[in-house]
Amino acid sequence: MDKKVCILYTGGTIGMVPTDRGYAPKKGYFQSLLDEIVQLRYEDMPQWDLVEFDPLLDSSDVAVDEWNSIGQAISSRYDEYDGFVVLHGTDTMAYSASALSFMLEGLDKPVVFTGSQIPMCQVRSDGRDNLINSILIASQGIANEVCIFFAGKLIRGNRATKTSADDLIAFTSPNYPPLASVGIDITYNRRALNRPMPTTDFTLHKMEHVPIAVLKLFPGMRFDLFEPLVTQDMKAVILEAFGSGNIPSRNTALIDSIHRATENGSLIAVCSQCYAGTARLGTYATSGELKDSGAVSCLDMTTEAAVAKLYYLFSVGIEEPVIKRALGTNLRGEMSIC
Ligand code: ASP
Repeated sequence: MDKKVCILYTGGTIGMVPTDRGYAPKKGYFQSLLDEIVQLRYEDMPQWDLVEFDPLLDSSDVAVDEWNSIGQAISSRYDEYDGFVVLHGTDTMAYSASALSFMLEGLDKPVVFTGSQIPMCQVRSDGRDNLINSILIASQGIANEVCIFFAGKLIRGNRATKTSADDLIAFTSPNYPPLASVGIDITYNRRALNRPMPTTDFTLHKMEHVPIAVLKLFPGMRFDLFEPLVTQDMKAVILEAFGSGNIPSRNTALIDSIHRATENGSLIAVCSQCYAGTARLGTYATSGELKDSGAVSCLDMTTEAAVAKLYYLFSVGIEEPVIKRALGTNLRGEMSIC
């Protein structure tokens, strides 16, 4: 096959080895794992190159700087390859895939994140299957967006969430259908794929270190103790609220803090802490004041996508009222247009 895929190996379980302190990545080891997979040299596989990151990381250590390195690695090789596979730890893969979906504007090639729950050095590893299918999907040029391939399903990166620490099906896309299913064939759900943006040239937007917070509400929460978080120099706070965006209303401590935060110029964004569904402010009286305070509803965005989108919007240097509008607007297929 004359297609070419670039594999970016950033770390994660897929290439880890057991150590005294638990699984950890090992420099220079992954190529030897790939050398053992004969299928990677079959005629109907695309050509591929491996780029190993330094340092290799557990994805718990992946954040803004690493997103920029991944973006840079793709951008500098963009014209050389038909697609990219990003090997990444599963723990924060949904955040990184969301981040890259915003950073890679005008993307018209597949960028497929994958990894595994069991390292490739183990006999029952799910890594080989995930890797082989990801390389094929990256070479096919059909899902030209940032996605995650895992356990037979291709899902949009900014719709994904890690829902199991144990199952081989580690990711789900609660509010959006899979982009493809892998059985005997790779079957794409063409109606679900992102449409190309024909007028937009491919551009990498780098992320900046933006002070944001995520606050998950729970019954009986002492909001007064969280006040410093809400009123300090925070650019934005994502409230993970109950149900369709509801917050306690009989105790006014939270809404008072939110008003102060808004006066201080912080943006308040509201996600639902439900696994699936939509945060829609004003549905219940308990979210009415939140709506009046100017909080933005993240609708059916995952918290991971909302975090990534806020980093992106504050990094691209636009004015705060525009950020607010853009947060509630679908930019990369991360939210359903209601
Ligand atoms: N802790 C690992 C990581 O995220 C888990 C994994 O890769 O599955 O890097």
